[in-house]
Amino acid sequence: MSLRVVGAAAGYGRMPVLEDVSIEVPSRTIVSVVGANGAGKSTLAKAISGLLRLSAGSIEVDGTPIDGLRPERRAKSGLVHVPEGRRLFGQLTVAENIAMGRQAARGRNADTEVVDQLLDSFPILRERWNQRAGLLSGGEQQMVALTRAAASRPRYLLLDEPSLGLSPRLSSEVLRLVGMIADETGAGVLLIEQRVDAALRLASSAYVLDRGRIVAEGPADELRESDEIRKAYLGM
Ligand code: ATP
Repeated sequence: MSLRVVGAAAGYGRMPVLEDVSIEVPSRTIVSVVGANGAGKSTLAKAISGLLRLSAGSIEVDGTPIDGLRPERRAKSGLVHVPEGRRLFGQLTVAENIAMGRQAARGRNADTEVVDQLLDSFPILRERWNQRAGLLSGGEQQMVALTRAAASRPRYLLLDEPSLGLSPRLSSEVLRLVGMIADETGAGVLLIEQRVDAALRLASSAYVLDRGRIVAEGPADELRESDEIRKAYLGM
């Protein structure tokens, strides 16, 4: 069971961004995509969730091609995209935002148990339960966005820079939540992260994207330990 992207190309108008990108995200596994600003990481997430069309290649979910499907259909089949910038309903409470995640799971049995477990491990969410999401801190909002996604029974989660703009401490908390979501939901997680070292510690395997192409891939700990890759592509 996996999410597979094979030989994908995509871009904006006439500007190509991704070229011949192939990745695989197995169920219950965190796979990270890292690379410099502008490498095409968000573009890859958009192409997978259907916000952008592929100009070549294909995408499969558990062996079924999905690249002809509209974004809503992809989401219904359990491919859930949490884009950069969270996008909560700021006027609604934390509880209501998470309830919307549960509704999105309709037909796939909303999972209250997973949410309860996340709330037990991250008590801040319970403390904020009846507050408007728009009033929470950036880190708290990100945690709500991730919990909402977890509540929707994802088969595959596309997480675009969940720690963007957060302090190191909050980033660690958010990444800990990502790890727990992968364990508890069994979803495969494609994790796009600027915090390369933290992402590679959490992920099982990783891909390095450079100017729209995959230039390195392998077990995350091997990439993390490779001086060559750290210097050449990761600015470390
Ligand atoms: P970042 O970490 O800065 O978000 P990224 O690796 O996610 O970088 P993308 O956002 O995928 O990179 O951008 C890849 C390229 O596509 C960049 O050259 C960017 O300027 C361009 N691009 C991104 N979004 C659009 C858009 N909506 N229209 C036109 N060009 C875009």
